[in-house]
Amino acid sequence: MSTETFEFQVEARQLLQLMIHSVYSNKDVFLRELVSNASDALDKLRLAKLRDDTLDADVSDLHIELETDREARTLTVRDNGVGMSYDEVGELIGTIANSGTAQFLKELKEAQDAAGAEGLIGQFGVGFYSGFMVADEVTLVTRKAGEKQGTRWSSRGEGTYTLERVDDAPQGTSVVLHLKPADPDNQLHDYTSVWKLREIVKRYSDFITWPIRLVGEKDGEGDDGEAAEPETLNSMKALWARPRDEVSEDEYHELYKHIGHDWREPLETIQLHAEGTFEYQALLFVPSHAPHDLFRQNTRHGLQLYVKRVFIMDDCEALLPSYLRFVKGVVDAQDLSLNVSREILQQDRHIRMMQRRLTKKVLSSVKSMMTADAEKYATFWREFGAVLKEGLVTDPDNRDALLAVASFASTHEDGEAVTLKRYVERMPEGQDDIYYITGESRETVDNSPHMEAFRERGIEVLLLTDPVDEVWTDAVGEFEGKRLRSVAKGEIDLDAREDDRSEDEQKQQAEAYAGLLGWMRERLDDDVKEVRLSTRLTRSPACLVADADDLTPALENMYRAMGQ
Ligand code: ADP
Ligand code: MG
Repeated sequence: MSTETFEFQVEARQLLQLMIHSVYSNKDVFLRELVSNASDALDKLRLAKLRDDTLDADVSDLHIELETDREARTLTVRDNGVGMSYDEVGELIGTIANSGTAQFLKELKEAQDAAGAEGLIGQFGVGFYSGFMVADEVTLVTRKAGEKQGTRWSSRGEGTYTLERVDDAPQGTSVVLHLKPADPDNQLHDYTSVWKLREIVKRYSDFITWPIRLVGEKDGEGDDGEAAEPETLNSMKALWARPRDEVSEDEYHELYKHIGHDWREPLETIQLHAEGTFEYQALLFVPSHAPHDLFRQNTRHGLQLYVKRVFIMDDCEALLPSYLRFVKGVVDAQDLSLNVSREILQQDRHIRMMQRRLTKKVLSSVKSMMTADAEKYATFWREFGAVLKEGLVTDPDNRDALLAVASFASTHEDGEAVTLKRYVERMPEGQDDIYYITGESRETVDNSPHMEAFRERGIEVLLLTDPVDEVWTDAVGEFEGKRLRSVAKGEIDLDAREDDRSEDEQKQQAEAYAGLLGWMRERLDDDVKEVRLSTRLTRSPACLVADADDLTPALENMYRAMGQ
Protein backbone atom coordinates (compact mmCIF):
# COMPACT_ATOMS: atom_id res chain seq x y z
CA MET A 1 0.00 0.00 0.00
CA SER A 2 1.27 3.47 -0.78
CA THR A 3 2.11 5.96 1.89
CA GLU A 4 1.23 9.58 1.32
CA THR A 5 2.90 12.45 3.12
CA PHE A 6 0.99 15.59 4.09
CA GLU A 7 1.84 18.88 5.70
CA PHE A 8 0.12 20.00 8.85
CA GLN A 9 -1.99 23.10 8.63
CA VAL A 10 -0.09 26.13 9.94
CA GLU A 11 -1.98 26.36 13.23
CA ALA A 12 -1.58 22.64 13.79
CA ARG A 13 2.14 22.94 13.26
CA GLN A 14 2.39 25.75 15.79
CA LEU A 15 0.50 23.74 18.33
CA LEU A 16 2.69 20.71 17.77
CA GLN A 17 5.85 22.74 18.22
CA LEU A 18 4.45 23.90 21.45
CA MET A 19 3.76 20.37 22.62
CA ILE A 20 7.16 19.06 21.56
CA HIS A 21 9.01 21.81 23.39
CA SER A 22 6.42 21.79 26.07
CA VAL A 23 6.81 24.21 28.89
CA TYR A 24 3.81 22.69 30.53
CA SER A 25 4.83 20.91 33.68
CA ASN A 26 1.83 18.66 34.07
CA LYS A 27 2.40 16.25 31.21
CA ASP A 28 0.20 13.56 32.76
CA VAL A 29 -2.86 15.13 31.20
CA PHE A 30 -2.01 13.71 27.78
CA LEU A 31 -3.53 10.43 28.94
CA ARG A 32 -6.71 12.09 30.02
CA GLU A 33 -7.03 13.58 26.53
CA LEU A 34 -6.51 10.26 24.74
CA VAL A 35 -8.85 8.40 27.10
CA SER A 36 -11.43 11.13 26.66
CA ASN A 37 -11.27 10.71 22.87
CA ALA A 38 -11.54 6.94 23.20
CA SER A 39 -14.55 7.29 25.47
CA ASP A 40 -16.25 9.64 22.99
CA ALA A 41 -15.57 7.10 20.23
CA LEU A 42 -17.23 4.34 22.25
CA ASP A 43 -20.25 6.53 22.98
CA LYS A 44 -20.57 7.29 19.30
CA LEU A 45 -20.39 3.64 18.24
CA ARG A 46 -22.92 2.54 20.83
CA LEU A 47 -25.25 5.20 19.54
CA ALA A 48 -24.69 4.46 15.85
CA LYS A 49 -25.49 0.81 16.47
CA LEU A 50 -28.61 1.76 18.36
CA ARG A 51 -29.78 3.86 15.42
CA ASP A 52 -28.90 1.23 12.85
CA ASP A 53 -28.54 -2.34 14.05
CA THR A 54 -27.38 -3.53 10.64
CA LEU A 55 -24.14 -1.60 11.18
CA ASP A 56 -21.29 -4.08 10.93
CA ALA A 57 -19.67 -3.53 14.33
CA ASP A 58 -19.35 -5.51 17.54
CA VAL A 59 -20.65 -3.61 20.55
CA SER A 60 -20.67 -6.53 22.99
CA ASP A 61 -17.51 -5.51 24.84
CA LEU A 62 -16.80 -1.84 24.31
CA HIS A 63 -13.78 -0.76 26.32
CA ILE A 64 -10.50 1.12 26.43
CA GLU A 65 -7.16 -0.61 26.75
CA LEU A 66 -3.80 0.67 27.90
CA GLU A 67 -0.80 -1.40 26.98
CA THR A 68 2.82 -0.72 27.82
CA ASP A 69 6.05 -2.11 26.49
CA ARG A 70 9.10 -1.25 28.56
CA GLU A 71 11.64 -2.53 26.09
CA ALA A 72 10.23 -0.65 23.14
CA ARG A 73 9.21 2.28 25.37
CA THR A 74 5.72 2.49 23.95
CA LEU A 75 2.35 3.16 25.47
CA THR A 76 -0.73 2.22 23.46
CA VAL A 77 -4.20 3.63 24.06
CA ARG A 78 -6.74 1.49 22.25
CA ASP A 79 -10.52 1.58 21.89
CA ASN A 80 -12.94 -0.53 19.89
CA GLY A 81 -15.16 2.45 19.15
CA VAL A 82 -16.44 4.22 16.07
CA GLY A 83 -13.04 4.85 14.44
CA MET A 84 -12.28 7.25 11.60
CA SER A 85 -12.24 6.98 7.81
CA TYR A 86 -9.13 7.84 5.80
CA ASP A 87 -10.49 11.30 5.02
CA GLU A 88 -11.61 11.90 8.57
CA VAL A 89 -8.17 11.18 9.94
CA GLY A 90 -6.73 13.88 7.67
CA GLU A 91 -9.44 16.34 8.61
CA LEU A 92 -9.65 15.67 12.33
CA ILE A 93 -6.06 15.00 13.19
CA GLY A 94 -4.23 17.08 10.58
CA THR A 95 -6.03 20.36 11.09
CA ILE A 96 -7.39 22.45 13.88
CA ALA A 97 -11.05 23.14 13.37
CA ASN A 98 -11.75 24.22 16.90
CA SER A 99 -12.07 28.02 16.99
CA GLY A 100 -11.14 28.08 20.67
CA THR A 101 -7.79 26.55 19.82
CA ALA A 102 -7.15 29.14 17.12
CA GLN A 103 -7.91 31.83 19.69
CA PHE A 104 -5.57 30.06 22.10
CA LEU A 105 -2.71 30.21 19.62
CA LYS A 106 -3.30 33.88 19.05
CA GLU A 107 -3.16 34.60 22.75
CA LEU A 108 -0.13 32.38 23.09
CA LYS A 109 1.78 34.42 20.56
CA GLU A 110 1.01 37.48 22.61
CA ALA A 111 2.18 35.85 25.84
CA GLN A 112 5.92 36.30 25.57
CA ASP A 113 7.23 34.44 28.56
CA ALA A 114 7.14 30.77 29.49
CA ALA A 115 5.05 31.32 32.60
CA GLY A 116 2.39 33.05 30.52
CA ALA A 117 2.47 30.21 28.03
CA GLU A 118 2.08 27.57 30.72
CA GLY A 119 -0.93 29.38 32.12
CA LEU A 120 -2.49 29.44 28.68
CA ILE A 121 -1.87 25.78 27.92
CA GLY A 122 -3.58 25.01 31.18
CA GLN A 123 -6.61 26.92 30.00
CA PHE A 124 -7.15 25.35 26.60
CA GLY A 125 -7.60 21.75 25.72
CA VAL A 126 -5.16 20.66 23.06
CA GLY A 127 -6.58 17.18 22.73
CA PHE A 128 -4.87 14.60 20.61
CA TYR A 129 -1.71 16.64 20.09
CA SER A 130 -0.91 16.56 23.80
CA GLY A 131 0.54 13.09 23.11
CA PHE A 132 3.56 14.91 21.69
CA MET A 133 4.38 16.21 25.16
CA VAL A 134 5.59 12.73 26.08
CA ALA A 135 6.23 11.03 22.74
CA ASP A 136 8.60 11.82 19.90
CA GLU A 137 6.55 9.77 17.49
CA VAL A 138 2.86 8.95 17.46
CA THR A 139 1.18 6.32 15.31
CA LEU A 140 -2.55 5.91 15.04
CA VAL A 141 -4.32 2.99 13.41
CA THR A 142 -8.05 3.26 12.98
CA ARG A 143 -10.96 1.71 11.15
CA LYS A 144 -14.34 3.35 10.87
CA ALA A 145 -17.28 1.22 11.96
CA GLY A 146 -18.86 -0.42 8.91
CA GLU A 147 -15.80 0.02 6.69
CA LYS A 148 -13.46 -2.77 5.64
CA GLN A 149 -10.24 -0.88 5.26
CA GLY A 150 -8.38 0.98 7.96
CA THR A 151 -5.92 3.87 8.05
CA ARG A 152 -2.52 4.34 9.62
CA TRP A 153 -1.48 7.87 10.54
CA SER A 154 1.98 8.58 11.76
CA SER A 155 4.00 11.65 12.66
CA ARG A 156 7.04 12.84 14.53
CA GLY A 157 5.22 16.13 15.02
CA GLU A 158 7.64 17.99 12.81
CA GLY A 159 5.59 19.54 10.05
CA THR A 160 4.41 16.45 8.21
CA TYR A 161 2.40 13.31 8.79
CA THR A 162 1.87 10.21 6.70
CA LEU A 163 -1.32 8.39 5.82
CA GLU A 164 -1.55 4.84 4.59
CA ARG A 165 -4.43 2.45 4.02
CA VAL A 166 -4.18 -0.81 5.93
CA ASP A 167 -6.13 -4.02 5.46
CA ASP A 168 -5.92 -5.67 8.83
CA ALA A 169 -6.97 -2.89 11.21
CA PRO A 170 -9.15 -4.03 14.10
CA GLN A 171 -12.36 -2.20 15.00
CA GLY A 172 -11.76 1.21 16.53
CA THR A 173 -8.60 3.20 17.09
CA SER A 174 -5.25 2.58 18.66
CA VAL A 175 -2.76 5.31 19.40
CA VAL A 176 0.82 4.21 19.94
CA LEU A 177 3.05 6.70 21.72
CA HIS A 178 6.76 6.17 21.20
CA LEU A 179 7.81 7.69 24.48
CA LYS A 180 10.69 10.12 24.73
CA PRO A 181 13.83 8.69 26.39
CA ALA A 182 13.37 8.09 30.10
CA ASP A 183 14.76 10.74 32.39
CA PRO A 184 16.89 8.80 34.91
CA ASP A 185 16.46 11.65 37.41
CA ASN A 186 12.75 11.70 37.15
CA GLN A 187 11.05 8.35 37.53
CA LEU A 188 7.79 10.19 38.12
CA HIS A 189 7.30 10.59 34.42
CA ASP A 190 7.78 7.00 33.37
CA TYR A 191 4.61 6.30 31.46
CA THR A 192 5.40 2.64 31.06
CA SER A 193 5.08 2.22 34.80
CA VAL A 194 1.90 0.49 35.81
CA TRP A 195 1.47 2.34 39.07
CA LYS A 196 1.89 5.62 37.22
CA LEU A 197 -0.89 4.74 34.79
CA ARG A 198 -3.13 3.56 37.62
CA GLU A 199 -2.61 6.84 39.37
CA ILE A 200 -3.31 9.00 36.33
CA VAL A 201 -6.45 7.12 35.37
CA LYS A 202 -7.75 7.24 38.94
CA ARG A 203 -7.10 10.94 39.14
CA TYR A 204 -8.40 12.08 35.76
CA SER A 205 -10.62 9.42 34.26
CA ASP A 206 -12.24 7.42 37.04
CA PHE A 207 -15.79 8.42 36.06
CA ILE A 208 -15.40 7.35 32.41
CA THR A 209 -18.37 5.06 31.86
CA TRP A 210 -16.37 2.48 29.86
CA PRO A 211 -13.85 0.11 31.42
CA ILE A 212 -10.25 1.26 31.08
CA ARG A 213 -8.21 -1.92 31.18
CA LEU A 214 -4.54 -2.40 31.68
CA VAL A 215 -3.19 -5.24 29.61
CA GLY A 216 0.21 -6.83 29.12
CA GLU A 217 3.16 -6.18 31.41
CA LYS A 218 2.48 -6.05 35.09
CA ASP A 219 5.64 -4.74 36.68
CA GLY A 220 6.43 -8.31 37.77
CA GLU A 221 3.88 -8.09 40.55
CA GLY A 222 4.14 -11.74 41.51
CA ASP A 223 2.94 -13.01 38.19
CA ASP A 224 6.30 -14.20 36.88
CA GLY A 225 5.99 -12.54 33.54
CA GLU A 226 2.80 -14.35 32.63
CA ALA A 227 0.13 -12.32 30.97
CA ALA A 228 -2.25 -11.53 33.80
CA GLU A 229 -5.99 -10.92 33.63
CA PRO A 230 -6.56 -7.36 32.50
CA GLU A 231 -7.08 -5.03 35.41
CA THR A 232 -9.84 -2.42 35.22
CA LEU A 233 -8.42 0.86 36.46
CA ASN A 234 -11.53 3.00 36.78
CA SER A 235 -14.60 2.65 38.98
CA MET A 236 -16.96 3.79 36.18
CA LYS A 237 -19.29 5.29 38.74
CA ALA A 238 -21.62 7.89 37.30
CA LEU A 239 -20.84 10.92 39.44
CA TRP A 240 -24.26 12.42 38.90
CA ALA A 241 -25.89 9.40 40.53
CA ARG A 242 -23.79 9.62 43.68
CA PRO A 243 -24.64 11.73 46.72
CA ARG A 244 -22.75 14.97 46.69
CA ASP A 245 -20.90 14.35 49.94
CA GLU A 246 -19.37 11.17 48.56
CA VAL A 247 -17.77 12.88 45.60
CA SER A 248 -14.77 15.14 45.84
CA GLU A 249 -14.60 18.52 44.18
CA ASP A 250 -11.71 17.22 42.08
CA GLU A 251 -13.77 14.34 40.73
CA TYR A 252 -16.51 16.73 39.64
CA HIS A 253 -13.95 18.98 38.01
CA GLU A 254 -12.42 16.14 36.01
CA LEU A 255 -15.84 15.16 34.72
CA TYR A 256 -16.41 18.76 33.74
CA LYS A 257 -13.15 18.87 31.83
CA HIS A 258 -14.09 15.73 29.94
CA ILE A 259 -17.57 16.78 28.89
CA GLY A 260 -16.82 20.48 28.59
CA HIS A 261 -13.62 19.98 26.57
CA ASP A 262 -12.11 22.54 28.88
CA TRP A 263 -8.90 22.41 30.86
CA ARG A 264 -9.97 24.95 33.37
CA GLU A 265 -11.93 24.38 36.55
CA PRO A 266 -15.63 25.14 36.38
CA LEU A 267 -16.97 28.13 38.29
CA GLU A 268 -19.91 26.31 39.82
CA THR A 269 -21.21 22.76 40.16
CA ILE A 270 -24.96 22.24 40.38
CA GLN A 271 -26.64 18.97 41.20
CA LEU A 272 -30.29 18.02 40.98
CA HIS A 273 -32.11 14.76 41.68
CA ALA A 274 -35.74 14.78 40.59
CA GLU A 275 -37.88 11.98 41.94
CA GLY A 276 -41.45 11.05 41.19
CA THR A 277 -43.15 9.99 37.98
CA PHE A 278 -40.42 11.34 35.75
CA GLU A 279 -37.15 10.64 37.44
CA TYR A 280 -33.85 12.17 36.41
CA GLN A 281 -30.51 13.28 37.71
CA ALA A 282 -28.62 16.29 36.56
CA LEU A 283 -25.08 17.43 37.16
CA LEU A 284 -24.52 20.86 35.68
CA PHE A 285 -21.47 23.07 35.50
CA VAL A 286 -21.05 26.76 34.90
CA PRO A 287 -17.68 27.27 33.16
CA SER A 288 -15.33 29.91 34.46
CA HIS A 289 -14.92 31.46 31.01
CA ALA A 290 -17.31 32.13 28.16
CA PRO A 291 -16.45 30.19 25.00
CA HIS A 292 -15.32 32.28 22.06
CA ASP A 293 -18.28 31.32 19.91
CA LEU A 294 -21.00 32.04 22.44
CA PHE A 295 -22.72 34.54 20.15
CA ARG A 296 -22.24 32.71 16.89
CA GLN A 297 -25.25 31.29 15.16
CA ASN A 298 -24.33 27.64 15.55
CA THR A 299 -22.73 27.66 18.93
CA ARG A 300 -23.13 24.33 20.68
CA HIS A 301 -25.21 23.76 23.75
CA GLY A 302 -23.46 22.13 26.62
CA LEU A 303 -25.68 19.35 27.91
CA GLN A 304 -25.34 15.65 27.34
CA LEU A 305 -28.41 13.48 27.62
CA TYR A 306 -28.14 10.00 29.12
CA VAL A 307 -30.91 7.49 29.56
CA LYS A 308 -30.28 5.15 32.48
CA ARG A 309 -26.51 5.67 32.32
CA VAL A 310 -26.35 5.25 28.54
CA PHE A 311 -25.07 8.22 26.59
CA ILE A 312 -27.71 9.34 24.09
CA MET A 313 -26.67 12.71 22.70
CA ASP A 314 -24.37 15.66 22.98
CA ASP A 315 -25.32 19.26 22.47
CA CYS A 316 -28.86 18.67 23.68
CA GLU A 317 -30.61 21.99 23.16
CA ALA A 318 -34.00 20.89 24.47
CA LEU A 319 -32.87 20.66 28.09
CA LEU A 320 -32.14 24.32 28.74
CA PRO A 321 -33.26 27.56 27.09
CA SER A 322 -30.91 29.19 24.63
CA TYR A 323 -29.84 31.87 27.10
CA LEU A 324 -28.31 29.15 29.29
CA ARG A 325 -26.45 27.56 26.39
CA PHE A 326 -23.12 27.98 28.17
CA VAL A 327 -24.08 25.55 30.95
CA LYS A 328 -22.33 22.19 30.58
CA GLY A 329 -23.20 18.88 32.12
CA VAL A 330 -25.11 15.67 32.13
CA VAL A 331 -28.80 14.94 32.44
CA ASP A 332 -29.67 11.29 33.01
CA ALA A 333 -33.35 10.41 32.64
CA GLN A 334 -34.94 7.15 33.78
CA ASP A 335 -37.92 6.86 31.50
CA LEU A 336 -36.98 7.93 28.01
CA SER A 337 -36.58 5.67 25.03
CA LEU A 338 -32.99 5.02 24.04
CA ASN A 339 -34.09 5.88 20.52
CA VAL A 340 -35.33 9.33 21.40
CA SER A 341 -34.59 11.93 18.72
CA ARG A 342 -34.03 15.69 18.90
CA GLU A 343 -37.41 16.29 17.26
CA ILE A 344 -39.21 14.17 19.84
CA LEU A 345 -37.39 15.86 22.69
CA GLN A 346 -38.51 19.29 21.51
CA GLN A 347 -42.15 18.25 21.83
CA ASP A 348 -42.00 16.03 24.87
CA ARG A 349 -44.02 17.28 27.81
CA HIS A 350 -41.66 15.75 30.38
CA ILE A 351 -38.66 17.34 28.72
CA ARG A 352 -40.37 20.73 28.86
CA MET A 353 -41.00 20.24 32.58
CA MET A 354 -37.41 19.21 33.01
CA GLN A 355 -36.25 22.31 31.17
CA ARG A 356 -38.32 24.53 33.43
CA ARG A 357 -36.97 22.85 36.55
CA LEU A 358 -33.34 22.96 35.39
CA THR A 359 -33.67 26.62 34.42
CA LYS A 360 -35.00 27.53 37.86
CA LYS A 361 -32.23 25.53 39.47
CA VAL A 362 -29.50 27.33 37.53
CA LEU A 363 -31.01 30.73 38.25
CA SER A 364 -31.36 29.99 41.95
CA SER A 365 -27.73 28.87 42.04
CA VAL A 366 -26.71 32.19 40.56
CA LYS A 367 -28.83 33.91 43.19
CA SER A 368 -27.07 32.06 45.99
CA MET A 369 -23.72 32.80 44.41
CA MET A 370 -24.61 36.48 44.64
CA THR A 371 -25.00 36.39 48.39
CA ALA A 372 -22.46 33.70 49.23
CA ASP A 373 -19.55 34.69 47.03
CA ALA A 374 -19.65 38.14 45.49
CA GLU A 375 -16.41 37.66 43.61
CA LYS A 376 -17.60 34.46 41.98
CA TYR A 377 -20.82 36.15 41.03
CA ALA A 378 -18.91 39.06 39.50
CA THR A 379 -16.94 36.60 37.36
CA PHE A 380 -20.14 34.87 36.36
CA TRP A 381 -21.83 38.05 35.33
CA ARG A 382 -18.82 39.37 33.46
CA GLU A 383 -18.60 36.17 31.43
CA PHE A 384 -22.27 35.33 30.94
CA GLY A 385 -24.35 38.40 31.79
CA ALA A 386 -24.79 39.37 28.15
CA VAL A 387 -26.25 35.95 27.35
CA LEU A 388 -28.46 35.79 30.39
CA LYS A 389 -30.04 39.12 29.48
CA GLU A 390 -31.40 37.48 26.32
CA GLY A 391 -33.68 35.62 28.71
CA LEU A 392 -35.28 38.89 29.81
CA VAL A 393 -36.73 39.07 26.32
CA THR A 394 -37.31 35.41 25.49
CA ASP A 395 -38.43 33.97 28.83
CA PRO A 396 -41.08 36.15 30.48
CA ASP A 397 -41.83 33.40 33.03
CA ASN A 398 -38.39 33.77 34.55
CA ARG A 399 -38.09 37.50 34.03
CA ASP A 400 -38.25 38.34 37.71
CA ALA A 401 -35.66 35.72 38.61
CA LEU A 402 -33.39 37.05 35.87
CA LEU A 403 -33.84 40.67 36.94
CA ALA A 404 -32.95 39.63 40.47
CA VAL A 405 -29.57 38.26 39.41
CA ALA A 406 -28.76 40.91 36.81
CA SER A 407 -26.36 43.74 37.54
CA PHE A 408 -25.15 46.72 35.59
CA ALA A 409 -22.36 49.22 35.36
CA SER A 410 -23.42 52.55 36.78
CA THR A 411 -22.32 56.14 37.09
CA HIS A 412 -22.36 55.59 40.84
CA GLU A 413 -20.10 52.55 40.94
CA ASP A 414 -16.43 52.27 40.26
CA GLY A 415 -15.85 48.96 38.49
CA GLU A 416 -18.56 47.23 40.51
CA ALA A 417 -21.99 46.52 39.10
CA VAL A 418 -25.28 47.46 40.68
CA THR A 419 -28.52 45.49 40.82
CA LEU A 420 -31.84 47.11 40.00
CA LYS A 421 -32.93 46.48 43.57
CA ARG A 422 -29.98 48.43 44.91
CA TYR A 423 -30.57 51.22 42.39
CA VAL A 424 -34.14 51.62 43.52
CA GLU A 425 -33.19 51.49 47.20
CA ARG A 426 -30.86 54.42 46.84
CA MET A 427 -33.01 56.50 44.51
CA PRO A 428 -33.37 59.94 46.09
CA GLU A 429 -36.74 61.32 47.11
CA GLY A 430 -38.59 62.62 44.07
CA GLN A 431 -36.93 60.38 41.48
CA ASP A 432 -39.53 58.07 39.99
CA ASP A 433 -37.71 56.36 37.16
CA ILE A 434 -34.70 54.13 36.64
CA TYR A 435 -32.41 55.87 34.18
CA TYR A 436 -30.13 54.10 31.77
CA ILE A 437 -28.12 54.85 28.70
CA THR A 438 -27.27 52.39 25.95
CA GLY A 439 -24.33 52.54 23.59
CA GLU A 440 -21.58 50.61 21.96
CA SER A 441 -18.93 51.07 24.59
CA ARG A 442 -18.25 52.54 27.96
CA GLU A 443 -16.45 55.40 26.28
CA THR A 444 -19.38 56.30 24.03
CA VAL A 445 -21.85 56.37 26.88
CA ASP A 446 -19.46 58.26 29.16
CA ASN A 447 -19.04 60.96 26.53
CA SER A 448 -22.66 61.16 25.51
CA PRO A 449 -24.16 64.65 25.78
CA HIS A 450 -27.29 62.99 27.12
CA MET A 451 -25.41 62.30 30.31
CA GLU A 452 -24.60 65.89 31.10
CA ALA A 453 -27.70 66.92 32.94
CA PHE A 454 -27.70 63.69 34.94
CA ARG A 455 -24.10 64.05 35.91
CA GLU A 456 -24.70 67.66 36.87
CA ARG A 457 -27.58 66.69 39.11
CA GLY A 458 -25.86 63.58 40.51
CA ILE A 459 -28.56 61.24 39.25
CA GLU A 460 -27.50 57.61 38.90
CA VAL A 461 -27.57 56.26 35.34
CA LEU A 462 -27.04 52.61 34.39
CA LEU A 463 -24.47 52.25 31.64
CA LEU A 464 -25.58 49.51 29.27
CA THR A 465 -23.19 48.51 26.51
CA ASP A 466 -24.29 45.05 25.32
CA PRO A 467 -26.31 44.90 22.08
CA VAL A 468 -29.06 43.00 23.90
CA ASP A 469 -29.54 45.91 26.31
CA GLU A 470 -31.43 47.78 23.60
CA VAL A 471 -33.94 45.02 23.46
CA TRP A 472 -34.55 43.90 27.01
CA THR A 473 -34.95 47.40 28.39
CA ASP A 474 -37.90 47.91 26.05
CA ALA A 475 -39.31 44.45 26.65
CA VAL A 476 -39.10 44.69 30.43
CA GLY A 477 -40.22 48.33 30.72
CA GLU A 478 -40.25 48.54 34.51
CA PHE A 479 -38.89 47.13 37.73
CA GLU A 480 -40.83 47.16 41.01
CA GLY A 481 -43.19 49.73 39.57
CA LYS A 482 -40.38 52.07 38.48
CA ARG A 483 -40.16 52.81 34.79
CA LEU A 484 -36.94 52.01 32.98
CA ARG A 485 -36.12 55.14 31.00
CA SER A 486 -33.44 55.83 28.46
CA VAL A 487 -31.74 59.18 29.01
CA ALA A 488 -31.60 59.51 25.24
CA LYS A 489 -35.31 59.21 24.58
CA GLY A 490 -38.26 61.57 24.82
CA GLU A 491 -38.82 64.42 27.23
CA ILE A 492 -36.94 63.83 30.41
CA ASP A 493 -38.65 65.87 33.10
CA LEU A 494 -35.63 66.55 35.22
CA ASP A 495 -36.81 70.11 34.81
CA ALA A 496 -40.08 69.50 36.55
CA ARG A 497 -38.18 68.29 39.55
CA GLU A 498 -35.69 71.02 39.92
CA ASP A 499 -35.90 73.67 37.30
CA ASP A 500 -34.78 76.70 39.16
CA ARG A 501 -35.91 79.13 36.51
CA SER A 502 -39.13 80.97 37.09
CA GLU A 503 -41.95 80.70 34.59
CA ASP A 504 -41.22 84.21 33.38
CA GLU A 505 -37.61 83.39 32.78
CA GLN A 506 -38.56 80.31 30.80
CA LYS A 507 -40.94 82.32 28.69
CA GLN A 508 -38.36 84.97 28.01
CA GLN A 509 -35.81 82.41 27.01
CA ALA A 510 -38.25 80.72 24.67
CA GLU A 511 -38.97 84.03 22.99
CA ALA A 512 -35.33 84.95 22.73
CA TYR A 513 -34.49 81.73 20.98
CA ALA A 514 -37.62 81.42 18.84
CA GLY A 515 -35.88 82.84 15.79
CA LEU A 516 -32.90 80.53 16.02
CA LEU A 517 -35.04 77.47 16.62
CA GLY A 518 -37.28 78.33 13.69
CA TRP A 519 -34.29 78.75 11.43
CA MET A 520 -32.79 75.45 12.56
CA ARG A 521 -36.10 73.67 12.12
CA GLU A 522 -36.20 74.82 8.49
CA ARG A 523 -32.61 73.85 7.72
CA LEU A 524 -32.89 70.44 9.37
CA ASP A 525 -36.38 69.70 8.14
CA ASP A 526 -35.43 66.46 6.37
CA ASP A 527 -33.49 65.09 9.28
CA VAL A 528 -35.28 65.89 12.51
CA LYS A 529 -38.86 66.05 13.73
CA GLU A 530 -38.44 68.98 16.05
CA VAL A 531 -35.92 71.39 17.49
CA ARG A 532 -36.41 72.48 21.08
CA LEU A 533 -34.68 74.22 23.97
CA SER A 534 -33.35 71.86 26.55
CA THR A 535 -32.09 71.81 30.08
CA ARG A 536 -30.52 68.38 29.71
CA LEU A 537 -27.21 69.83 28.47
CA THR A 538 -24.55 71.59 30.45
CA ARG A 539 -21.51 71.66 28.18
CA SER A 540 -22.57 70.47 24.74
CA PRO A 541 -24.46 73.00 22.57
CA ALA A 542 -26.91 70.44 21.16
CA CYS A 543 -27.86 66.79 21.19
CA LEU A 544 -30.07 64.41 19.27
CA VAL A 545 -33.00 62.93 21.16
CA ALA A 546 -35.23 60.09 20.06
CA ASP A 547 -38.95 59.98 20.73
CA ALA A 548 -39.84 57.69 23.59
CA ASP A 549 -41.12 55.07 21.19
CA ASP A 550 -38.41 55.47 18.54
CA LEU A 551 -35.59 53.05 17.99
CA THR A 552 -32.31 54.18 19.49
CA PRO A 553 -29.43 54.60 17.02
CA ALA A 554 -27.76 51.43 18.27
CA LEU A 555 -30.92 49.41 17.81
CA GLU A 556 -31.39 50.89 14.35
CA ASN A 557 -27.90 49.70 13.52
CA MET A 558 -28.64 46.28 14.92
CA TYR A 559 -31.80 45.83 12.88
CA ARG A 560 -29.99 47.11 9.82
CA ALA A 561 -27.21 44.57 10.41
CA MET A 562 -29.83 41.84 10.70
CA GLY A 563 -31.17 42.91 7.32
CA GLN A 564 -34.49 44.32 8.53
P1 ADP B 1 -11.65 17.13 20.63
O1 ADP B 1 -11.71 15.80 21.34
O2 ADP B 1 -11.78 18.29 21.55
O3 ADP B 1 -12.60 17.19 19.45
P2 ADP B 1 -9.05 16.17 19.86
O4 ADP B 1 -7.83 16.82 19.32
O5 ADP B 1 -8.89 15.44 21.13
O6 ADP B 1 -10.16 17.29 20.00
O7 ADP B 1 -9.62 15.19 18.76
C1 ADP B 1 -9.95 15.65 17.48
C2 ADP B 1 -10.96 14.76 16.82
O8 ADP B 1 -10.34 13.55 16.36
C3 ADP B 1 -12.09 14.28 17.72
O9 ADP B 1 -13.13 15.22 17.78
C4 ADP B 1 -12.54 13.00 17.03
O10 ADP B 1 -13.44 13.29 15.98
C5 ADP B 1 -11.25 12.48 16.42
N1 ADP B 1 -10.68 11.44 17.29
C6 ADP B 1 -9.65 11.57 18.13
N2 ADP B 1 -9.40 10.41 18.78
C7 ADP B 1 -10.31 9.51 18.32
C8 ADP B 1 -10.60 8.12 18.60
N3 ADP B 1 -9.91 7.43 19.51
N4 ADP B 1 -11.60 7.52 17.90
C9 ADP B 1 -12.31 8.23 16.98
N5 ADP B 1 -12.12 9.53 16.70
C10 ADP B 1 -11.13 10.17 17.35
MG1 MG C 1 -10.36 15.21 22.74
